[in-house]
Order: sequence, then C-alpha cells, then structure tokens
Amino acid sequence: MSDEIERVARILDAAGKVVALTGAGISVESGIPDFRSPGGLWTRYDPSVYATFESFVNDPSRFWEMAEELNPLLENAEPNPAHCALAELEQLGKCDAVITQNIDHLHQRAGNTDVLELHGTYRTGTCLTCYTRHEFEEIKELASDGRIPHCKSCGGVIKPDVVLFGEPLNAPVLHRAIELATACDVMLVVGAGLEVFPAASLPTYAHRSHTELVFVNIAETAFDDIADVRLTGKAGEVLPRLVEAYRALSGN
Ligand SMILES: [Zn+2]
Repeated sequence: MSDEIERVARILDAAGKVVALTGAGISVESGIPDFRSPGGLWTRYDPSVYATFESFVNDPSRFWEMAEELNPLLENAEPNPAHCALAELEQLGKCDAVITQNIDHLHQRAGNTDVLELHGTYRTGTCLTCYTRHEFEEIKELASDGRIPHCKSCGGVIKPDVVLFGEPLNAPVLHRAIELATACDVMLVVGAGLEVFPAASLPTYAHRSHTELVFVNIAETAFDDIADVRLTGKAGEVLPRLVEAYRALSGN
C-alpha cells in the first residue's frame, strides 16, 4: 500500500489539473450509511414509493415522512478526514473541483470551493408551483411534526433540491462534470461504487481522454479494470496518507 500511495503522490505532483469524483463511501465515516447498502435507507423505504419524482408529485407526504428520519442524520454529520484531505489537496493546488453524488454538503463544509453536486443538495428546496427557493432551516420549520412543507409565497408544495429517481440531473452541472472528466490529468475516484449512471460513466470519459485514474475504495467496483492505481481501504485513512506523502514529496 505505501508503494502505491507513493506512486499516486508522484502522479499528483506531475499533474496539472486534478478532479475528484466522490460517492456514498466517502460519507459513511461521517455516519451517513450508503442508502444502497444492507440496512440502508433504500432497503427500508422502497424508493419507488418514497423517492421517485412521480410518487413525490402524486403524494409528497411519503417523502417527507422519510425525510424526518434522514434530515437529522444529514444535519448532524460532520466532514471526516477524507473530506478534509480533499480540501487540503485543493489548498495545495491538487484538487481543482469535486464532483459528488452525495447530497450532504460535507465537501463544502470541509472547505472545497468548487463542488458539483450531481444529485443536488438537501440544503435547499424549491416550490413546485412558483419556484421560490427555500433554505433548509426554513423547510425544517415548515415540515415539523411530519407535515408537508408548503411555500411561504404561494402555498405550493416544496420539493427538496435533491434529484429523485426518474428525475433528470441538472444539465449544466452534468455537462460541466463531463468537461472536467475529459480535461483533467488525474481523477481521484473516492468511495464511489459506480453503480449509478450517469455518474458512473465519468471515469470512462476520463479513461478515454487518457486521464490517470486513481480509485480509493474499500471494495471492488465495476470499473476497476480501467483504474491506473487502486488504493484499497477506508477513504478516511487512505486520503490523509496520500496528502502526507504528497507534502513530503513536493516539500509543501
Ligand atoms: Zn410557491
């Protein structure tokens, strides 16, 4: 493992543009279980009932019922050493942007300044009728006691700005993610099982553009064959070691 970490430190040192792609695995150590894992949110709340765009429009109460369990988890989570390591890499000029599948806002809280949230964020919600945006604190108050939060301006139903199943991704965000994937020298793929498209196709775009791909994951992924280096382990342990190795090598 140390040899491989050294190797990635040298790859980072030589790289101009570095982009990170992160998935649920990076936030597990912050106490947010992977929704897809055994015991995860989707094994207890059938997403076809609780989290599709269609089901939300037909009956938003199910979603907000689930949110009562999910929101405190998101709200109480703190960035872990893996998030902090990516923020440190940005300060060192070795992480230009973070593309994330997570909705938990932890990269921004750790200090990364250019974060592309492919699946949106829980921090805001938008009225489905008049499109007024509401902050999380406001939504939480409107949704207390299991109520459906209604817009303060027009009374319409507020939908959180997370991408539900069957809902398209934000096109400008996705386009920019593809641009970054094809234009970077190194992509660090961290804690991403790469089971969900289109996020899972980003390493493929990068691979085709001769980007060096570094996978940091606790388990194997479907795309391991295109990785140039695989660092197996917890992101919160591997990434701080990588930052340390890079600092030692570059003298920063
Ligand atoms: Zn409204």
